[in-house]
Amino acid sequence: MGTMTIKVAINGYGTIGKRVADAVDAQDDMEIVGVTKTRPAFGCDLAVRKGYPIYCTFDDESRIKAFADAGYTCHGGLSDLLKVADIVVDCSPGKVGASNKATYVEAGVKWIFQGGEKHEMTGNSYTSSANHVQNLNVQGTRVVSCNTTGLSRTLVPLYEHCGELSVECTMIRRAADPGDSSKGPINAIKPVLKVPSHHGPDVMTVKPEIKINSMAVAVPTTIMHVHVITATLPEGHGLTTESILEMWASHPRLIIMNGAETGITTTAEVMEFSRDIGRKWGDLHEIFVWEDGVKLEGNTLYYFQAIHQESDVIPENVDAIRALMGVEEDWRVSVNKTDSAISKYNNL
Ligand code: NAD
Repeated sequence: MGTMTIKVAINGYGTIGKRVADAVDAQDDMEIVGVTKTRPAFGCDLAVRKGYPIYCTFDDESRIKAFADAGYTCHGGLSDLLKVADIVVDCSPGKVGASNKATYVEAGVKWIFQGGEKHEMTGNSYTSSANHVQNLNVQGTRVVSCNTTGLSRTLVPLYEHCGELSVECTMIRRAADPGDSSKGPINAIKPVLKVPSHHGPDVMTVKPEIKINSMAVAVPTTIMHVHVITATLPEGHGLTTESILEMWASHPRLIIMNGAETGITTTAEVMEFSRDIGRKWGDLHEIFVWEDGVKLEGNTLYYFQAIHQESDVIPENVDAIRALMGVEEDWRVSVNKTDSAISKYNNL
């Protein structure tokens, strides 16, 4: 493909879609050819400001015309957008994917769904460090959820060192994104009563060799999930707490910090750190691990990690585009390219 610029459509310009659009826009080997909105709402102004062509999520004339009536230039419906795209990143709300997928297949474009969709619907799943190669040149995939992406970042390097890994984890989940003021709970802790929860086992869609189970609770916060993880390593693993920290420090998209030394001891301070260093939207694409909360005792590893739910999957979407388009076989090369382009807007 050489120097060809990959033409990327974003279907669903919401929390994830607007972030993926900017991350794609920052890359020199891809461009945004359009983003969709269901109706001429406030989010259109952001697309106008960024210079992304607006399309309507639907093809019917009356819905397309409503954009012009509200003063926005709408370039057509989803079908028109797909005609000018090589690949579509579907950032629609979870579980509307199946009908969208039929549209993409018919249009002959490649497609990427998000973690709200099931692996069974997409047939493939993706995280950069776990299975980039298996996704090379496939027609479509799913970038796994924020939780699965976070678990993969720390567990895949451990698994690759040990050759086997058995994990139990508890996901302490934010109740809603900051922009979702209508959701709760606001003063309760809500256990996910379906046990084990789906979160941990979803890792096996990208790294089937990791044995993992999870339980989950939702808590009244909008900022970050925390994972409480216990991993059993095989006999003869040869690791120490320090060598695990070094392994993670040399792995992309992980931040290791000492809570006692930095004063960053809660998710609120992690997010403040992210704002302090000038990250766009206050996002943190990296998974945050508290150094002083990591301990290996015999074969049992204990640690906590914090996940910025709205943003850890964003760079993975960019890498997934390169995998599907077959332009970069080495996940580390793609990750470096993605992150260095993003760093130009992220003040790294
Ligand atoms: P969102 O509600 O913020 O945005 C979804 C956007 O899609 C909205 O602009 C909506 O108008 C639009 N839309 C509605 N119906 C559509 C349709 N039929 N086709 C196309 N677009 C449609 O949702 P979100 O939080 O951005 O989530 C998008 C996906 O990303 C979901 O699968 C979700 O599970 C996943 N995800 C979300 C987070 C997160 O924390 N928000 C993290 C990781 C993954």
